[in-house]
Amino acid sequence: MIQNYCYICNIELKDSNLSYEHIIPACLGGSLKSRDLLCVQCNSTFGEIHDKALAAIGIFYLSKYNIPKKKSLNYTFNAVEKRTKKNLIISPSWITKFKDTISVIDENNNICIEAPNKKRAMQEINRIKILYQSHNFEDIEFNEKLTPEVQDFEYEPEVYEGLILRAICKTIANYYIFKTKNKDNISKLIEYIISDNENYYCWGFNLNIALKYYGGKTYHIINIIAIKDKYMYAYFEIFGETGFIILLNARYVGPDENYRYIYDVINKTEILNADDFQIDISLSDICEIIKNKADCEWFKSLNF
Ligand SMILES: [Zn+2]
Repeated sequence: MIQNYCYICNIELKDSNLSYEHIIPACLGGSLKSRDLLCVQCNSTFGEIHDKALAAIGIFYLSKYNIPKKKSLNYTFNAVEKRTKKNLIISPSWITKFKDTISVIDENNNICIEAPNKKRAMQEINRIKILYQSHNFEDIEFNEKLTPEVQDFEYEPEVYEGLILRAICKTIANYYIFKTKNKDNISKLIEYIISDNENYYCWGFNLNIALKYYGGKTYHIINIIAIKDKYMYAYFEIFGETGFIILLNARYVGPDENYRYIYDVINKTEILNADDFQIDISLSDICEIIKNKADCEWFKSLNF
C-alpha cells in the first residue's frame, strides 16, 4: 500500500481507492501515469468534466500530426443484485491489473471499463465477477462507445475555455506533486482547479517557445520554475504549438526550483538531454499575460 493522499479531496489513498492518473491527459497523447495523485472518484469526476473539454483540442492535434490514438473502447454495464433486484452498489475496491485498462464507477453506479479491445475488457469483467461472486452479473448490458473520431471535432471556446484552462492547470498540479510529493506551494492553484471562479491563473495561445529550441518538433513541454522566496510559475506547451503560462504561487517561500518534462508525442519518448531549454518570465509579465490574455510586452518581445 502506498501512503499518500488525494490532492483534490484529501482522502487517504489505499489499495481500495487509488487510481492511475495521466499526468498529461491521455487525450493529448500523454503516457506518464501515477497512482499517487488522485483517488478513483476525483480521477473519474475530473476526467469527465475537465479532460473531456481538453479532448476536443487533443483530437484535433492527434489527427493533424497523424499520431496513432490508443484505440480504446468504453464498455459500460451495471449489475443487479439478485435478491433485491436493486442496482448493485460496488465499492471501487479494485484496481485493474492491466496497464491499458481502466475501471471506474460513474454517478449511476455503472462500472465503466476502458480497454484497448473487447478481449481485454472481457478479462477485466471476469476478474470483477470473481471479486464479487455473491452478486448477479447475469444481466450485463454493454454499451460500446468508440473513441470519438476526428469529424466529431467541435471546438466551442465560449463553452470550454474555463474547463480547458482548469485541465491545463490540473496537468501542472499533477506534475508538480508527482515530482515533489508536496502540494503546499500550489494550494491556490488547486483551489482554482476545483472552483468555478473566473480569476484566471492560466492563459496562453500560440506560445511555441519550443520552436526556438527544437525547431517545431511535436513535443509537450512542462517547465515549472520557482524563484527563491519570490514566485512560482509554469510553462506548458502542447504539440509544440500552443503554450500556456500558469501562475502557481505569487508569494512563494522556498528555494529555487526547476522541473522539466519534455515529451516527444509522436515517438512516445521523454527527451532527457534538454539542458539548454530555459524560459524566464517576470512576475509582472506573468500577471499581465494572464490578465490581458497575451496582449503584453513580453509576448510581443518573443521574436520567432
Ligand atoms: Zn479525491
